[in-house]
Amino acid sequence: MRAVHELSICTSLARIVEAHADGRVVEVVHLEVGYLRQVIPATLRYSWEIVVLDTPLAGSVLDINHIPAVLHCRDCDARTVIEVPVFRCGCGSVAVDVVGGEELLVTSLDLAGPRTLAPPRS
Ligand SMILES: [Zn+2]
Repeated sequence: MRAVHELSICTSLARIVEAHADGRVVEVVHLEVGYLRQVIPATLRYSWEIVVLDTPLAGSVLDINHIPAVLHCRDCDARTVIEVPVFRCGCGSVAVDVVGGEELLVTSLDLAGPRTLAPPRS
């Protein structure tokens, strides 16, 4: 099933985010996802809702920045953004290194405003 990939990604993301949030309320999780991860953003957002249901992260949403796949050509030094996984430079060379598209990073978290744990006494 296609969504299993996204679900397993969300399960590991949730662990990372919970560790960073350290008990604080998370509103938005900003992510960079490389094109070559073959993740469908809508499916990832939906999987996140399922994974965080009944956890401290429930109600948080993913903000996904899709990073294009980029090749670097060792023959002519050009960088090419590819739309489909064809690993060939515009000059015809296949001596290319993938230099973008494999990212899966949590870049930042939006946390709810600070909560006063001990209200000041008058
Ligand atoms: Zn080239």
